[in-house]
Amino acid sequence: MTEPGRRASNFIADIVDRDTRDGTYGGRVQTRFPPEPNGYLHIGHAKAIVVDFGTAEDFDGVCMLRLDDTNPETEETAFVDSIVHDIEWLGYEPAEVRHASDYFDQLYDWAVLLITKGLAYVDEQDSETISAHRGGFGKPGVESPWRDRPVEESLEIFEKMRHGHYPDGSRVLRAKIDMNAENMQLRDPIMYRIRNLPHHRTGNAWAIYPTYDWAHGQSDAIEGVTHSICTLEFESHRPLYDWFLANLDLDRTPPKQIEFARLEFTHTVTSKRRLATLVMDGIVDGWDDPRMPTIRGLRRRGYPSAAIRAFCREIGTTRTNSRHRIEELESYVRRELNATAQRRMAVLHPLKLVLDNWPADEQGNPVVEYFEVANNPERAEDGTRQVPFTGELWIERDDFREVPPPKYFRLSPGREVRLRGAYLVTATDVVKDEAGDVVEVHATFDPESKGGTAPDGRKVKSTMHWVSAPHAVPVRAALYERLFTAENPGERTGEALDDVNPDSRELLDGCWGEAALGDVAPGESLQFERLGYFAVDTRDTGLFHRTVGLRDEWAAIQKREA
Ligand code: ATP
Ligand code: MG
Repeated sequence: MTEPGRRASNFIADIVDRDTRDGTYGGRVQTRFPPEPNGYLHIGHAKAIVVDFGTAEDFDGVCMLRLDDTNPETEETAFVDSIVHDIEWLGYEPAEVRHASDYFDQLYDWAVLLITKGLAYVDEQDSETISAHRGGFGKPGVESPWRDRPVEESLEIFEKMRHGHYPDGSRVLRAKIDMNAENMQLRDPIMYRIRNLPHHRTGNAWAIYPTYDWAHGQSDAIEGVTHSICTLEFESHRPLYDWFLANLDLDRTPPKQIEFARLEFTHTVTSKRRLATLVMDGIVDGWDDPRMPTIRGLRRRGYPSAAIRAFCREIGTTRTNSRHRIEELESYVRRELNATAQRRMAVLHPLKLVLDNWPADEQGNPVVEYFEVANNPERAEDGTRQVPFTGELWIERDDFREVPPPKYFRLSPGREVRLRGAYLVTATDVVKDEAGDVVEVHATFDPESKGGTAPDGRKVKSTMHWVSAPHAVPVRAALYERLFTAENPGERTGEALDDVNPDSRELLDGCWGEAALGDVAPGESLQFERLGYFAVDTRDTGLFHRTVGLRDEWAAIQKREA
């Protein structure tokens, strides 16, 4: 890991630090990451994971994974494994894996306690009436006619609700707090709904299911969570979180909810619903499409987990909502890959270059020369490799112009350039097809310039990469643009999907890579010289996804905005 070993410093660390020093929780720190297992994790979840697990780590505490499976409609199993796997890949290990559904019995008992205390009641109004009577800002709510029904009656009906005596929507259990509270969350919030549906873990045991508000803080308390870190949209729920816990006669200090701002990016959406639409509508190939901001998508694209972790830590954790520029995350990716990715040469848009004065051996076969090239100039321990060179090469089509425009210093007739680490060559002639397009460039090389420098020290303005044609291995490449053209998807029309970029992927067939690209591992990251960082596809080792280009766009943005 390249991240510094120091403790993160932010307002959450300050709160935890104070509690630790005050002995609020006997010096214990316990957090949890509580995803609903109804989809794959995305880059926003990575931030929550780094905050939840990172805070525990910083204070020698523990962090658990809690699957918030209170909704029986959620099909869990497929997602749970992927969530665990993604967390592991990000570099963290849950102390334990728990399910909110493990606590249904305790939650039920506590609900009975609240009814007994006169703090909860069964309401028989329908959901439209309940929400219409909730009121609004500056508009008091209307108390339910069932609000003051006898405790015994609520208890009896509640038990029947549990056992499936009533149809969905006919009754709910509500906390009895204050229909005039300024905070809407406190206007007799719903604790249980009737859902006559089997749950994938509890089967047919329950016909009622707890709401988020009722399940969450109580699950925290059961597990012994000390600091329950969540995103800002739950800020207004905190008084309710505290109210429930304060009324349960707990024998230890209740957990504390702390909120921070969600992580959002330009040109990106992270809502599970929208991501699902991208998959369902076939806009992308699946949840692990390299254009997806899901953890599995980013992984397949070649984002190193160390870069994601470093980004999530170093941008800090605040209570101000803002959109981060995606270029900033990419700069972390580039920094990490620069340090770790081996360099290779590949030609994505090939044009044949023939060296007319290349020698032949005694049998008349072209000579093959080998150049020793560093695998990563940033990391000597990665060693070197032998790259074959002959008189028949592939170069990028873009690196040759028959008629060079002004300031074009790459190859053109009569111009001398350097073939990286090999020789200086001068273009002499071209071969064209019937359409008049250049299909082959002829050149001569200077045998005195071995390694790329001439003995007379003459300068050339351009250095180009190349691949020896007889040794080349065929490769395919996928180049990506932003999945959403707009910086702020949905700002224009209210619908993010209106801003989908129809040309976000370019698939290139018929590319050529140096011999070493015939021997790569699935998922491996490489730098293709001058072209960017590429990741070997996890299933198809002949396919390379461009992770990011080489240019540091983030530096350019910062300079522009300074
Ligand atoms: P979505 O809106 O994508 O469905 P969610 O908040 O419903 O996300 P959960 O599975 O409930 O997803 O989230 C698990 C945890 O991850 C929660 O604590 C939530 O606050 C946090 N989280 C989700 N999205 C983000 C984000 N963009 N930035 C930071 N934390 C996030
Ligand atoms: Mg959610």
